Amino acid sequence: MKRKVVNSSRMPIYRDAGFELSDAGKTAEAFREESEHTREPNSYIYSRYRNPTVVSAEEEIMRIEGCEWALLTQSGMSAIDTALSIFQIGKETKPWLFFTEIYGGTISYIESVLKKRRGLDIHYFTPERGNYNLTEFEKVLSVLKPEFVYIESISNPMLIVADVTEISSIAKKHDLRVIIDNTFATPFLYKPLGEGVDIVIHSVTKYFSGHGNLTAGVLCGNNNSLMQQAIEYRKLVGHMLSPDDAYRLQTQIQSFELRFERQCNNASKLAEYLDNVPVVRKVWFPGLKDHPTHMIAEKLFKARGYGAMITFDFDGKDNTQKRRRRDEFIHQVSEKIKLIPSLGDPHTILMPVEAVWGVKYPEPGMIRLSVGFEEYSELEETISKAMARM
Ligand code: PLP
Repeated sequence: MKRKVVNSSRMPIYRDAGFELSDAGKTAEAFREESEHTREPNSYIYSRYRNPTVVSAEEEIMRIEGCEWALLTQSGMSAIDTALSIFQIGKETKPWLFFTEIYGGTISYIESVLKKRRGLDIHYFTPERGNYNLTEFEKVLSVLKPEFVYIESISNPMLIVADVTEISSIAKKHDLRVIIDNTFATPFLYKPLGEGVDIVIHSVTKYFSGHGNLTAGVLCGNNNSLMQQAIEYRKLVGHMLSPDDAYRLQTQIQSFELRFERQCNNASKLAEYLDNVPVVRKVWFPGLKDHPTHMIAEKLFKARGYGAMITFDFDGKDNTQKRRRRDEFIHQVSEKIKLIPSLGDPHTILMPVEAVWGVKYPEPGMIRLSVGFEEYSELEETISKAMARM
Protein backbone atom coordinates (compact mmCIF):
# COMPACT_ATOMS: atom_id res chain seq x y z
CA MET A 1 0.00 0.00 0.00
CA LYS A 2 1.22 3.49 -0.84
CA ARG A 3 1.65 5.66 2.25
CA LYS A 4 -0.57 8.70 2.19
CA VAL A 5 -2.03 11.30 4.51
CA VAL A 6 -5.50 10.07 5.53
CA ASN A 7 -8.27 12.66 5.93
CA SER A 8 -9.06 11.76 9.56
CA SER A 9 -10.20 14.57 11.87
CA ARG A 10 -8.29 13.03 14.76
CA MET A 11 -4.67 12.46 15.60
CA PRO A 12 -4.19 8.71 15.00
CA ILE A 13 -2.38 6.32 17.32
CA TYR A 14 1.27 6.29 16.30
CA ARG A 15 2.58 3.07 17.82
CA ASP A 16 6.06 3.39 16.32
CA ALA A 17 8.79 2.71 18.87
CA GLY A 18 11.29 4.51 16.61
CA PHE A 19 10.44 6.91 13.75
CA GLU A 20 11.97 6.85 10.29
CA LEU A 21 14.68 9.43 9.63
CA SER A 22 15.52 9.72 5.93
CA ASP A 23 19.31 10.24 6.02
CA ALA A 24 22.30 11.11 8.21
CA GLY A 25 21.71 14.86 7.83
CA LYS A 26 18.08 14.57 8.98
CA THR A 27 19.22 12.33 11.87
CA ALA A 28 21.82 14.83 13.05
CA GLU A 29 19.22 17.60 12.86
CA ALA A 30 16.65 15.57 14.82
CA PHE A 31 19.15 14.74 17.59
CA ARG A 32 20.33 18.36 17.74
CA GLU A 33 16.72 19.45 18.24
CA GLU A 34 16.22 16.68 20.81
CA SER A 35 19.00 18.11 22.99
CA GLU A 36 16.91 21.31 23.29
CA HIS A 37 13.96 19.36 24.83
CA THR A 38 11.30 21.08 22.74
CA ARG A 39 7.65 20.36 23.57
CA GLU A 40 6.68 19.44 20.00
CA PRO A 41 9.66 18.34 17.90
CA ASN A 42 9.81 18.79 14.12
CA SER A 43 11.08 15.23 13.75
CA TYR A 44 10.08 12.48 16.11
CA ILE A 45 12.89 10.06 17.01
CA TYR A 46 11.73 7.53 19.57
CA SER A 47 8.40 7.20 21.44
CA ARG A 48 10.00 7.21 24.89
CA TYR A 49 11.34 10.71 24.03
CA ARG A 50 8.23 12.16 22.44
CA ASN A 51 5.24 10.74 20.54
CA PRO A 52 2.79 12.66 18.31
CA THR A 53 -0.34 11.03 19.80
CA VAL A 54 0.89 11.91 23.30
CA VAL A 55 1.71 15.51 22.24
CA SER A 56 -1.79 15.83 20.79
CA ALA A 57 -3.41 14.68 24.08
CA GLU A 58 -1.11 17.08 25.96
CA GLU A 59 -2.45 19.93 23.85
CA GLU A 60 -6.00 19.08 24.99
CA ILE A 61 -4.83 19.45 28.58
CA MET A 62 -3.06 22.74 27.78
CA ARG A 63 -6.36 24.03 26.37
CA ILE A 64 -8.29 23.04 29.52
CA GLU A 65 -5.60 24.17 31.96
CA GLY A 66 -4.78 27.33 29.99
CA CYS A 67 -1.03 26.74 30.23
CA GLU A 68 2.09 26.78 28.05
CA TRP A 69 3.00 23.13 28.44
CA ALA A 70 1.65 19.81 29.73
CA LEU A 71 3.63 16.58 29.92
CA LEU A 72 1.83 13.25 30.18
CA THR A 73 3.26 10.33 32.15
CA GLN A 74 2.09 6.75 32.77
CA SER A 75 0.58 7.53 36.19
CA GLY A 76 -0.10 10.32 38.63
CA MET A 77 2.83 9.01 40.69
CA SER A 78 5.27 9.31 37.78
CA ALA A 79 4.07 12.89 37.22
CA ILE A 80 4.80 13.58 40.91
CA ASP A 81 8.22 11.90 40.64
CA THR A 82 9.07 14.01 37.57
CA ALA A 83 7.87 17.29 39.07
CA LEU A 84 9.87 16.79 42.27
CA SER A 85 13.01 15.12 40.91
CA ILE A 86 13.94 18.04 38.66
CA PHE A 87 14.62 20.01 41.87
CA GLN A 88 17.12 17.43 43.15
CA ILE A 89 20.63 18.64 42.43
CA GLY A 90 22.94 16.31 44.34
CA LYS A 91 24.44 17.66 47.56
CA GLU A 92 23.16 21.14 46.76
CA THR A 93 19.52 20.07 47.15
CA LYS A 94 17.75 22.38 49.61
CA PRO A 95 15.07 21.14 52.07
CA TRP A 96 11.65 20.29 50.57
CA LEU A 97 8.42 21.17 52.41
CA PHE A 98 5.22 19.11 52.09
CA PHE A 99 1.79 19.85 53.54
CA THR A 100 0.71 16.71 55.43
CA GLU A 101 -2.82 16.48 54.01
CA ILE A 102 -1.83 14.86 50.73
CA TYR A 103 -2.54 11.54 49.01
CA GLY A 104 -1.29 8.54 51.07
CA GLY A 105 0.63 7.19 48.08
CA THR A 106 2.53 10.49 47.86
CA ILE A 107 3.40 10.27 51.58
CA SER A 108 4.66 6.70 51.07
CA TYR A 109 6.74 7.88 48.07
CA ILE A 110 8.20 10.71 50.18
CA GLU A 111 9.06 8.35 53.03
CA SER A 112 10.36 5.36 51.03
CA VAL A 113 11.92 6.99 47.99
CA LEU A 114 12.80 10.58 48.85
CA LYS A 115 13.83 10.08 52.50
CA LYS A 116 14.96 6.45 52.82
CA ARG A 117 16.54 5.85 49.41
CA ARG A 118 17.59 9.32 48.25
CA GLY A 119 18.33 10.71 51.73
CA LEU A 120 16.66 14.07 51.06
CA ASP A 121 15.95 16.66 53.75
CA ILE A 122 12.14 16.44 53.96
CA HIS A 123 9.83 18.53 56.18
CA TYR A 124 6.08 18.51 56.75
CA PHE A 125 3.57 21.22 57.59
CA THR A 126 0.43 20.07 59.45
CA PRO A 127 -3.02 21.75 59.61
CA GLU A 128 -4.58 22.83 62.91
CA ARG A 129 -8.27 21.98 63.45
CA GLY A 130 -8.87 21.24 59.78
CA ASN A 131 -7.21 24.37 58.40
CA TYR A 132 -3.66 25.54 57.64
CA ASN A 133 -2.28 28.33 59.84
CA LEU A 134 -0.50 30.53 57.30
CA THR A 135 1.20 32.72 59.91
CA GLU A 136 2.89 29.56 61.19
CA PHE A 137 3.62 28.57 57.57
CA GLU A 138 5.48 31.82 56.97
CA LYS A 139 7.52 31.33 60.16
CA VAL A 140 8.52 27.83 58.95
CA LEU A 141 9.63 29.25 55.59
CA SER A 142 11.82 31.92 57.22
CA VAL A 143 13.70 29.30 59.22
CA LEU A 144 13.75 26.36 56.81
CA LYS A 145 14.25 28.20 53.47
CA PRO A 146 13.01 25.26 51.39
CA GLU A 147 13.36 24.87 47.61
CA PHE A 148 9.61 24.37 47.20
CA VAL A 149 6.35 23.77 49.00
CA TYR A 150 4.07 20.93 47.87
CA ILE A 151 0.31 21.01 48.49
CA GLU A 152 -2.99 19.55 47.34
CA SER A 153 -5.70 22.09 46.59
CA ILE A 154 -8.38 19.80 48.11
CA SER A 155 -7.12 17.17 50.54
CA ASN A 156 -8.20 13.58 51.00
CA PRO A 157 -10.36 12.39 52.83
CA MET A 158 -11.19 15.51 54.92
CA LEU A 159 -11.47 17.76 51.83
CA ILE A 160 -9.48 20.64 53.31
CA VAL A 161 -9.23 23.41 50.72
CA ALA A 162 -5.78 25.04 50.87
CA ASP A 163 -5.72 28.81 50.33
CA VAL A 164 -3.47 28.42 47.30
CA THR A 165 -3.62 32.14 46.44
CA GLU A 166 -2.33 33.10 49.88
CA ILE A 167 0.18 30.23 50.11
CA SER A 168 1.56 31.10 46.70
CA SER A 169 1.91 34.79 47.53
CA ILE A 170 3.74 33.97 50.80
CA ALA A 171 5.96 31.47 48.95
CA LYS A 172 6.89 34.06 46.31
CA LYS A 173 7.89 36.54 49.06
CA HIS A 174 10.35 33.87 50.25
CA ASP A 175 11.50 33.07 46.73
CA LEU A 176 10.45 29.44 46.65
CA ARG A 177 8.60 27.30 44.14
CA VAL A 178 5.04 26.06 44.60
CA ILE A 179 3.94 22.64 43.34
CA ILE A 180 0.26 21.70 43.51
CA ASP A 181 -1.54 18.42 43.05
CA ASN A 182 -4.86 19.74 41.71
CA THR A 183 -6.46 16.32 41.04
CA PHE A 184 -9.52 16.87 43.28
CA ALA A 185 -10.27 20.47 42.24
CA THR A 186 -9.40 20.17 38.52
CA PRO A 187 -9.07 23.30 36.33
CA PHE A 188 -12.88 23.41 36.16
CA LEU A 189 -12.89 24.78 39.73
CA TYR A 190 -9.52 26.42 39.91
CA LYS A 191 -6.43 27.10 37.77
CA PRO A 192 -3.46 27.58 40.14
CA LEU A 193 -0.92 28.46 37.44
CA GLY A 194 -2.57 31.88 37.17
CA GLU A 195 -1.77 32.43 40.88
CA GLY A 196 2.00 32.10 40.53
CA VAL A 197 2.11 28.34 41.13
CA ASP A 198 5.04 26.79 39.23
CA ILE A 199 3.88 23.23 38.52
CA VAL A 200 0.39 21.72 38.59
CA ILE A 201 0.04 17.93 38.77
CA HIS A 202 -3.00 15.74 38.07
CA SER A 203 -3.65 12.08 38.43
CA VAL A 204 -5.23 11.86 34.96
CA THR A 205 -6.53 8.45 36.07
CA LYS A 206 -9.29 10.41 37.82
CA TYR A 207 -11.43 13.22 36.34
CA PHE A 208 -9.51 13.96 33.13
CA SER A 209 -9.92 10.41 31.79
CA GLY A 210 -13.09 10.06 33.88
CA HIS A 211 -14.12 6.48 33.15
CA GLY A 212 -12.02 4.41 35.56
CA ASN A 213 -10.30 2.68 32.64
CA LEU A 214 -6.97 4.46 32.20
CA THR A 215 -3.92 5.16 34.36
CA ALA A 216 -2.02 8.36 33.56
CA GLY A 217 -0.59 11.53 35.07
CA VAL A 218 0.32 15.00 33.89
CA LEU A 219 2.44 17.93 35.02
CA CYS A 220 1.70 21.38 33.63
CA GLY A 221 3.35 24.78 33.77
CA ASN A 222 4.36 27.99 32.02
CA ASN A 223 8.09 28.13 32.74
CA ASN A 224 10.16 26.88 29.78
CA SER A 225 13.22 25.85 31.78
CA LEU A 226 11.12 23.66 34.11
CA MET A 227 9.50 22.08 31.03
CA GLN A 228 12.87 21.27 29.46
CA GLN A 229 14.11 19.67 32.67
CA ALA A 230 10.90 17.66 33.01
CA ILE A 231 11.05 16.48 29.37
CA GLU A 232 14.62 15.31 29.91
CA TYR A 233 13.81 13.55 33.20
CA ARG A 234 10.69 11.84 31.78
CA LYS A 235 12.73 10.57 28.84
CA LEU A 236 15.67 9.32 30.90
CA VAL A 237 13.64 7.45 33.51
CA GLY A 238 11.06 6.25 30.96
CA HIS A 239 7.92 7.83 32.48
CA MET A 240 6.33 8.46 29.05
CA LEU A 241 2.62 7.61 28.51
CA SER A 242 1.80 5.02 25.84
CA PRO A 243 0.26 6.26 22.54
CA ASP A 244 -2.78 3.98 23.00
CA ASP A 245 -3.56 5.49 26.39
CA ALA A 246 -2.92 8.99 25.01
CA TYR A 247 -5.42 8.35 22.22
CA ARG A 248 -8.12 7.16 24.63
CA LEU A 249 -7.42 10.11 26.90
CA GLN A 250 -7.63 12.53 23.99
CA THR A 251 -11.14 11.20 23.28
CA GLN A 252 -12.41 10.90 26.85
CA ILE A 253 -11.15 14.32 27.90
CA GLN A 254 -13.49 16.01 25.38
CA SER A 255 -16.36 15.53 27.86
CA PHE A 256 -14.35 16.48 30.97
CA GLU A 257 -16.11 19.79 31.70
CA LEU A 258 -19.59 18.33 31.14
CA ARG A 259 -18.88 15.34 33.35
CA PHE A 260 -17.20 17.23 36.16
CA GLU A 261 -19.83 19.98 36.30
CA ARG A 262 -22.51 17.33 36.74
CA GLN A 263 -20.42 15.45 39.31
CA CYS A 264 -20.01 18.67 41.33
CA ASN A 265 -23.75 19.40 41.14
CA ASN A 266 -24.64 15.86 42.22
CA ALA A 267 -22.13 16.07 45.09
CA SER A 268 -23.53 19.41 46.33
CA LYS A 269 -27.09 18.00 46.39
CA LEU A 270 -26.00 14.74 48.00
CA ALA A 271 -23.97 16.51 50.72
CA GLU A 272 -27.06 18.58 51.67
CA TYR A 273 -29.14 15.41 51.75
CA LEU A 274 -26.63 13.46 53.88
CA ASP A 275 -26.32 16.39 56.29
CA ASN A 276 -29.98 15.83 57.23
CA VAL A 277 -29.88 12.04 57.65
CA PRO A 278 -30.35 11.23 61.41
CA VAL A 279 -27.87 8.30 61.51
CA VAL A 280 -25.12 10.44 59.93
CA ARG A 281 -23.02 12.15 62.62
CA LYS A 282 -21.09 14.49 60.32
CA VAL A 283 -20.55 15.31 56.65
CA TRP A 284 -17.31 16.82 55.28
CA PHE A 285 -17.90 18.71 52.04
CA PRO A 286 -16.35 22.14 51.27
CA GLY A 287 -19.73 23.38 50.01
CA LEU A 288 -21.32 22.99 53.45
CA LYS A 289 -21.13 26.10 55.62
CA ASP A 290 -19.75 24.19 58.62
CA HIS A 291 -16.75 22.81 56.71
CA PRO A 292 -13.59 24.41 58.22
CA THR A 293 -12.46 25.63 54.78
CA HIS A 294 -15.85 26.59 53.30
CA MET A 295 -14.87 30.27 53.02
CA ILE A 296 -11.63 29.40 51.22
CA ALA A 297 -13.60 27.21 48.79
CA GLU A 298 -15.95 30.16 48.16
CA LYS A 299 -13.00 32.44 47.49
CA LEU A 300 -11.08 30.06 45.21
CA PHE A 301 -13.83 28.26 43.32
CA LYS A 302 -16.18 31.27 42.91
CA ALA A 303 -19.35 29.14 43.15
CA ARG A 304 -18.43 26.94 40.17
CA GLY A 305 -18.77 23.96 42.54
CA TYR A 306 -17.00 22.35 45.50
CA GLY A 307 -15.62 19.19 43.96
CA ALA A 308 -17.25 15.78 43.75
CA MET A 309 -15.92 14.09 46.88
CA ILE A 310 -17.88 13.72 50.13
CA THR A 311 -16.81 12.10 53.38
CA PHE A 312 -19.41 11.25 56.03
CA ASP A 313 -19.44 9.47 59.36
CA PHE A 314 -22.15 7.18 60.77
CA ASP A 315 -23.35 7.90 64.27
CA GLY A 316 -23.58 5.10 66.85
CA LYS A 317 -23.53 4.46 70.58
CA ASP A 318 -20.09 2.80 70.22
CA ASN A 319 -17.56 1.76 67.57
CA THR A 320 -19.28 -1.61 67.06
CA GLN A 321 -22.56 0.04 66.11
CA LYS A 322 -20.82 2.58 63.85
CA ARG A 323 -18.91 -0.21 62.10
CA ARG A 324 -22.12 -2.26 61.73
CA ARG A 325 -23.92 0.70 60.13
CA ARG A 326 -21.01 1.32 57.75
CA ASP A 327 -20.93 -2.35 56.69
CA GLU A 328 -24.71 -2.54 56.30
CA PHE A 329 -24.67 0.62 54.17
CA ILE A 330 -21.92 -0.77 51.91
CA HIS A 331 -23.94 -3.99 51.54
CA GLN A 332 -27.26 -2.21 50.87
CA VAL A 333 -25.92 0.08 48.11
CA SER A 334 -23.53 -2.47 46.54
CA GLU A 335 -25.66 -3.10 43.42
CA LYS A 336 -25.37 0.57 42.38
CA ILE A 337 -22.43 1.99 44.37
CA LYS A 338 -19.33 -0.19 44.25
CA LEU A 339 -16.48 -0.27 46.74
CA ILE A 340 -13.63 0.73 44.41
CA PRO A 341 -10.40 2.24 45.76
CA SER A 342 -10.22 5.09 43.26
CA LEU A 343 -12.19 8.23 42.41
CA GLY A 344 -13.53 10.16 39.44
CA ASP A 345 -15.43 7.22 37.90
CA PRO A 346 -18.68 7.75 35.93
CA HIS A 347 -20.76 6.17 38.72
CA THR A 348 -20.59 6.96 42.39
CA ILE A 349 -18.08 4.71 44.17
CA LEU A 350 -17.13 4.48 47.83
CA MET A 351 -14.32 3.62 50.21
CA PRO A 352 -14.46 2.79 53.97
CA VAL A 353 -12.00 5.33 55.44
CA GLU A 354 -10.77 3.35 58.49
CA ALA A 355 -9.93 0.30 56.34
CA VAL A 356 -7.71 2.41 54.06
CA TRP A 357 -6.23 5.16 56.26
CA GLY A 358 -5.98 3.13 59.49
CA VAL A 359 -4.62 5.14 62.41
CA LYS A 360 -4.60 8.44 60.49
CA TYR A 361 -8.42 8.46 60.30
CA PRO A 362 -9.58 5.69 62.64
CA GLU A 363 -13.31 6.61 62.66
CA PRO A 364 -15.04 3.24 62.04
CA GLY A 365 -18.23 4.79 60.63
CA MET A 366 -16.51 6.94 58.01
CA ILE A 367 -17.16 6.52 54.29
CA ARG A 368 -15.65 8.48 51.40
CA LEU A 369 -17.82 8.90 48.31
CA SER A 370 -16.59 9.80 44.85
CA VAL A 371 -19.79 11.13 43.31
CA GLY A 372 -20.49 10.17 39.70
CA PHE A 373 -22.43 11.79 36.90
CA GLU A 374 -25.42 9.43 37.00
CA GLU A 375 -28.97 10.80 37.30
CA TYR A 376 -29.13 12.49 40.73
CA SER A 377 -32.59 11.17 41.68
CA GLU A 378 -31.40 7.57 41.18
CA LEU A 379 -28.37 8.20 43.36
CA GLU A 380 -30.40 9.72 46.21
CA GLU A 381 -32.95 6.92 45.93
CA THR A 382 -30.24 4.24 46.31
CA ILE A 383 -28.77 6.01 49.34
CA SER A 384 -32.06 6.87 51.02
CA LYS A 385 -33.30 3.27 50.72
CA ALA A 386 -30.10 2.08 52.42
CA MET A 387 -30.37 4.78 55.12
CA ALA A 388 -33.94 3.71 55.89
CA ARG A 389 -32.58 0.28 56.90
CA MET A 390 -29.87 1.56 59.27
N1 PLP B 1 -2.67 12.45 43.55
C1 PLP B 1 -3.87 12.21 44.12
C2 PLP B 1 -4.58 13.34 44.79
C3 PLP B 1 -4.42 10.93 44.11
O1 PLP B 1 -5.61 10.72 44.70
C4 PLP B 1 -3.71 9.89 43.46
C5 PLP B 1 -4.25 8.51 43.43
O2 PLP B 1 -5.26 8.20 44.00
C6 PLP B 1 -2.47 10.19 42.87
C7 PLP B 1 -1.99 11.47 42.92
C8 PLP B 1 -1.68 9.11 42.18
O3 PLP B 1 -2.21 8.91 40.91
P1 PLP B 1 -2.09 7.53 40.10
O4 PLP B 1 -2.84 6.50 40.87
O5 PLP B 1 -2.67 7.86 38.77
O6 PLP B 1 -0.64 7.21 40.01
